[in-house]
Amino acid sequence: MPEEKEKIFDVAVVGGGPSGMIAAARAGELGARAALLEKNNTLGRKLLLTGKGRSNLTKAEFSPKELVKKYGREGGFLLSPLSVFGVKETIDFFEKKGLKTKIERGKRVFPQSDKAGDVLDVLFDYLKKNQVKIMTNSEVKEIIRHKKSISKIVLKDDREILAKNYIICTGGKSFPGTGSTGDGYKWLKEMGHTIVKPRPALVPLKIKEDWPKKAQGLSLKNVELTIFQNGKKKDSCFGELLFTHFGLSGPVVLDLSGEIGELLERGEVKLSLDLKPALNFQVLDKRIQSDFFKYKNKFFKNCLSDLFPQKMIPVIIEMSGINPLKRVNKINRQERQKLVRLSKGMEMTVSSLLGFNLAIITLGGVSLKEIDSKTMKSKLVENLFFAGEIINLHGPTGGYNLQLCWSTGYLAGQTAAKSNTSK
Ligand SMILES: Cc1cc2nc3c(=O)[nH]c(=O)nc-3n(C[C@H](O)[C@H](O)[C@H](O)COP(=O)(O)OP(=O)(O)OC[C@H]3O[C@@H](n4cnc5c(N)ncnc54)[C@H](O)[C@@H]3O)c2cc1C
Repeated sequence: MPEEKEKIFDVAVVGGGPSGMIAAARAGELGARAALLEKNNTLGRKLLLTGKGRSNLTKAEFSPKELVKKYGREGGFLLSPLSVFGVKETIDFFEKKGLKTKIERGKRVFPQSDKAGDVLDVLFDYLKKNQVKIMTNSEVKEIIRHKKSISKIVLKDDREILAKNYIICTGGKSFPGTGSTGDGYKWLKEMGHTIVKPRPALVPLKIKEDWPKKAQGLSLKNVELTIFQNGKKKDSCFGELLFTHFGLSGPVVLDLSGEIGELLERGEVKLSLDLKPALNFQVLDKRIQSDFFKYKNKFFKNCLSDLFPQKMIPVIIEMSGINPLKRVNKINRQERQKLVRLSKGMEMTVSSLLGFNLAIITLGGVSLKEIDSKTMKSKLVENLFFAGEIINLHGPTGGYNLQLCWSTGYLAGQTAAKSNTSK
């Protein structure tokens, strides 16, 4: 029989990710007796993977109105949480607790140490300082509702946790090895909440054609990827792209993946990759002519290295249909223009999105209509709050998703601590 059968807390937070940690610590800071329940034996497993281990902890966009545009149609939901704990407050919070930050390209904010572990350490100290009871190895099995409120939480080992208020921060379903297995969706659905269908997002793509595999490992900066369906342009994104053994990854691909996923449900999706988006057709043609002049006595295969990365050259040669051993001065205008067109539009067909295992985030979750954005409180269950990825809101890559966790987590912890709802 476990030692602690029952515990009574003011606030019980389920899920020790970024949103749960900040929520529990903030509740503790305001004097609430708070508990943080995490099924893993450590906190913040996914947080340690963020930003490739460097943690892109926010985006240095200080205008909430501008920031929320990036969270899609329902981004306005975040205005209230941001007004309490916005980007400036987030950076100040970490800096005051000793974590020096730096702003990199694209206004992405990282710890100066480049270590996600240092972000986790700050949160851990914040929890400790505010006497939060950290309960790792505590997998929540069931949440029991009595009339209009939650009466208790039952753990897998049958321990029971009683609290006045409960905050669910179990995240989404992506990277399930970190503990985010979508458990919260089931409980919340049973309590009457609408769960918008969870879907993998910010996820790499499988491509039908073989040529991207030939360039695997190559990362291209400053390229433009455009999505087409039925010959119509749907969207495009400029930035960095990575070729992999299954197809494509990198920020531009991840950011377009949500939309590609939706379009795939309606039919075939084509992609066009512009390797030289800064140059229009004529300018690129001139540039290639001058390279051809410079290398006029060389073979075609040896004249492209000023324009393209080495790994891309065999692919371009094959797709151009020009004999690699042709002397450059023998290449005709038509062939050259085909090369220009190719550089500005390498075509691919999407075969599928990779699944939850490799998705950075999960689209979908608790319907925003059922959450009060001023408090992060459920509109259906009296003593229930939410924070983080479990809600039906997400942003692109670049620090937006962690900012959502900090803002909603801080606010949920604060209002749950102040709310006197009794069970
Ligand atoms: C590889 C990768 C890189 C990323 N990089 C960035 C980045 O640089 N910047 C950025 O902004 N975002 C990034 N993200 C997204 C970001 O990590 C998530 O949005 C964020 O972790 C969500 O936090 P959360 O607290 O809502 O949920 P999670 O971090 O998913 O935490 C949920 C926690 O709940 C626990 N849990 C689940 N079920 C139970 C249960 N039944 N009982 C008890 N505990 C339970 C889990 O074990 C987990 O610890 C990245 C994501 C991935 C996968």
